[in-house]
Amino acid sequence: MNNSFLKIDNLSKNYGETPALSDISLSLHTEELLVILGPTGAGKTTLLRIIAGLEAADTGRITIDGTDITHQLPAERDIALVFQNFSLYPNKTVRQNLAFPLQAPGRNLSKTEIANRISHTADLLRITPLLDRPATHLSGGEMQRVAIGRAIVRQPQLFLLDEPLTNLDAKLREVLRVELIRLQRDLRTPMIYVTHDRVEALSMGDRIAVLSEGKILQIGTPEEIYQQPNSPIVARQLGYPPINTIDVHKQQNQWFTASNQAIMTADRNAPSNATLGIRAEDISPQGGEIPAIIEVIEDLGASTILLANWAGQSIQISISGEQQWHVGDEIYPSIDLDRVLVWEKKQPQMNTDEHR
Ligand code: ADP
Repeated sequence: MNNSFLKIDNLSKNYGETPALSDISLSLHTEELLVILGPTGAGKTTLLRIIAGLEAADTGRITIDGTDITHQLPAERDIALVFQNFSLYPNKTVRQNLAFPLQAPGRNLSKTEIANRISHTADLLRITPLLDRPATHLSGGEMQRVAIGRAIVRQPQLFLLDEPLTNLDAKLREVLRVELIRLQRDLRTPMIYVTHDRVEALSMGDRIAVLSEGKILQIGTPEEIYQQPNSPIVARQLGYPPINTIDVHKQQNQWFTASNQAIMTADRNAPSNATLGIRAEDISPQGGEIPAIIEVIEDLGASTILLANWAGQSIQISISGEQQWHVGDEIYPSIDLDRVLVWEKKQPQMNTDEHR
């Protein structure tokens, strides 16, 4: 699993003045499913397009199995890219849509080989009953299966998927997500899967690379990224409700908020200025010392989110089971101190009077 298959070194790309990617380095292991997680505009699509060869990087190098492919044409790379906005040939049947990429000149595949690949792919994607339907007579989910099928029949050495489930409804997304994981395990072809959806990232990735403003902020297993996010930006991308972040400074052994309220004990070795990350599920409504007023209650079925004003901060508390609270109630939030994340905050350089 640890053999590096694809390696990207110091890749950068600007569109005019806009930096789309800055100094990206990462590797993808043999058989690995790597998720690139980031908000819109982070540079995810640009990264995939550069790997596929549809876009040239300004600087950097890409190798596959040790071969430099940085300047290869897309067709030479043997990489399949599936987009969010899948497009099938409307005048062709599903079978013809699947056959099309195999009939390209230069492929030289026999009719039997093409038929075998189509039937194997159709089996994998459970679309065999649809093979003779016109592409226009398919639901959104079926169309996306066929679009993924068109990538699979080619038997590429690498799959790149760009938010392939984004346009589908929630239930279908869940079904196809599970199927894609199974498929990738069966095919054992490495895959880079781009998404802005934390649930997809956490449930699908062997590892996740968190991308923000063209930079990779952290790469690790879902567990590592969730438990030990290295910055508030990474942490905010992964939790729902988003993790509570509070800027604090240390005095004696206490953390103080910007409005100078002591909120909890600080570790002796903690930095003097920090951002604290407190997950909504690590706060109980009762048992603490500082009062809070409930402002909003959001019922999510299995859990309930309380939005409360606490120590001059707006915080979210997640409780499971039956909830007994009402808007306006006074509560005393208590925080599981062992679970609090502390990120050192570098203070901007202050102007001093020393030189006067
Ligand atoms: P994502 O896929 O994460 O939403 P993109 O890779 O599409 O992000 O875009 C990254 C940045 O590059 C954005 O600021 C976007 O506006 C810019 N960008 C992307 N493609 C182009 C282009 N063809 N011309 C100019 N700017 C672009």
